Formats: sequence, C-alpha cells, structure tokens
Amino acid sequence: MTDTGLHIDLDPHDFPALHRDLLAWFAAHAADLPWRRDRDPYLVWLSEIMLQQTQVTTVIPYFERFVARFPTVEALAAAPLDDVLKLWEGLGYYSRARNLHRAAQVVVQELGGQFPPTVEGLMALPGIGRYTAGAIASLAFGADAPVLDGNVIRVLARLFDVAEDARETATLKALWALAERLVPPGQAGPWNEGLMELGRTVCTPKSPNCPHCPIAAHCTAFALGVQEQRPVKAPKARTPHYDVTAAVITRDDGQVLIAQRPLDKMLGGLWEFPGGKREPGESLQACLRREIREELGIDIEVGAQIGTVRHGYTHFRITLYAFACTLTGGTPQAIQCAAWTWAAPDDLELYAFPVTDQKIIAMLRDGGGQIGMDLGL
Ligand code: SF4
Repeated sequence: MTDTGLHIDLDPHDFPALHRDLLAWFAAHAADLPWRRDRDPYLVWLSEIMLQQTQVTTVIPYFERFVARFPTVEALAAAPLDDVLKLWEGLGYYSRARNLHRAAQVVVQELGGQFPPTVEGLMALPGIGRYTAGAIASLAFGADAPVLDGNVIRVLARLFDVAEDARETATLKALWALAERLVPPGQAGPWNEGLMELGRTVCTPKSPNCPHCPIAAHCTAFALGVQEQRPVKAPKARTPHYDVTAAVITRDDGQVLIAQRPLDKMLGGLWEFPGGKREPGESLQACLRREIREELGIDIEVGAQIGTVRHGYTHFRITLYAFACTLTGGTPQAIQCAAWTWAAPDDLELYAFPVTDQKIIAMLRDGGGQIGMDLGL
C-alpha cells in the first residue's frame, strides 16, 4: 500500500520520463478546440461546465453560440435565466445552466468580475466541484492542481494497474491523492489536459490503442495485458424505468398549454407539456387526468395518442406517452409548477424545452398528422 492509499507500487515508475512523454505528445497532438485558443478563466469555466457528462463534438457548437451571445461573465450575469436555458436547450443536465448563471452573478456582484485563482475559492462558486475547480485553476491560472474525471480515472487505473473498484469512494479518494502526486510542478495545465486528451482519444474505454500510446512504456496494465479489465467497476444496480405521460392541451384558438418546471427540481426552469409519472395499476389516461389536476387544478379530456418518446437519464429511464387533450373544466393555476402559459404553436420555439418535449413538438410538426394540422403546426 502506498501513501496514496492504493495497493500499487509507485517505485518502478519514472515520473519525470512519464511527464516528458505525455507532455511532448500533447504538445504535438492537442486537438484545436475553441476553448483552447484563449485561457481566459471565463471561457475555461464555461467549457469545463459544458464538457461535464458531454462529448467534445456536442459541446463545440453550444460553446460557440454561448460565447457569441455572452462574451463576458458580465454579459452572462446580466442575462435573464430563460435566455441562458434557451441556449442550453438540448445539452442536458440543466442544473449546470442554472448554476452557471448564479455563479456568474456571484463573480460579478461579489468578486468584482474576477474568478478566484485557487481550487478552494473556485469551489465556493455554485456548480463548481473539485474536478472543475482543478481544471480552471490549472488551465487558466497555472496552479499545480490535479483533475480527476472519467478519462483520467481510466488512464491512471491502467497506468498503475489499480485493481480496486473505481466506483468506491475510498478508491476515488486514493486516485485523487495519486493524481495530486503526479502533477509536474508548473505544468499542471498541459499535464491535466494531456491526460484527459489521452483518455478521450487513445486510452479509450473499449479497445485502447496501446501500440500507439505515447506512455505505453510506463503502463503496468498494458505490460500485464489487463488494460481492458481496468478500471475495475462493480456492476451497477439495474436502472429503474418509469412510464410518464404528457398532455398537449389545446384550446379553440389553437394555443397550447405549457408549464414551467419548478426551479428546485430536475430540469428546473424548463418548459414542458404538463403531466407526470404513472402510478402502479393506473391507466395512462387516468394518470394524465390526475397529474393535470394536481399540477394545474384543471380537468381535461384525454384524446388520441400523439406518440411515444424513450429517454435515459443518469439514474433512470422513461417512456413518455404524449396525448392530445382538451380542457373541460377550471382555470389553470401554478400548483405544482413554477408558471404556466398558453402559447401559439409557432411561439413554442421561444421557450426552452427538455429534449423529450422537443421530440413531441417535432412529432407534432413532422409526423403528427391530423393532430399536428389541428394545432397549426
Ligand atoms: Fe492506456 Fe494502453 Fe496507453 Fe496503457 S498503454 S495508458 S492502457 S492506451
């Protein structure tokens, strides 16, 4: 057991040679990404938040649109949250956008527009955890701070043949200690980015490209032929699945009722077709009538099914059933939602919707047949 807390032997590893090989590779092979052209803390922060749980290729157009609309932290802080959510639409994990907006306001209103240069200072901002703080501190401020994301965990677990379960808190703590020991003083930025880039492009989860890896000579798992078995991950519990209903309620003038999700809930602040989760033994139609009564205090008649959307979130999966509905009694009230409004079909694009509801809108537009025509879509 080393002082990192892992059952690995660090002695045979030549850290200076490892640093030299990875840094040289990264200097020669770093992808030209828009957030790498300027190490401004605002741009580094924005890119790191967008890259959480999201592929680089997905992030690029979002990053460019976001920076064009909010070129500075001041511009972001001054924007309405709705505008921020709208630009974030489709990127998922919307709490990131809400925290981004709040953190921008803290930086502008309490810190004179300057991001803190230390890991501790950065972690005091909303939405910034240890990984993101380490990335900003090292990339934007040159601090000797480590990072540990999924890519780095995989590279380190292979490089040092870590046999402990990488999902365990104790293992993660030990990997943080290892990552900290490994940072070459004064070069944390390119070292961290190099590790992440290697994990993304060479040391991939399946079939790592070991023959072309710049640090293969340092890699214990490769030497032992066990790289595909690292990192060790105990099997996950089965992901739960829920049936969810959504009502596309239209009134005579063709306007559609949409509701805004509570800010403190998942997907908070986004707009949606109201509805909710089916209870055991409940029909989809009964579920929808109950949910709409609970959420908005109105009665509806449930008509034809518009379509079905399947979607996976981090901890569960859903099947969303959308129905065309009409209002039969009552006036909407924001009981279990932040707000509600009637929107003309052409105006739906002005609101930020989760990807599931965007698919319903697309169905209404493209394949909704008679229902879409009735809605003027
Ligand atoms: Fe990953 Fe293979 Fe390189 Fe080891 S040699 S770091 S397993 S790509």
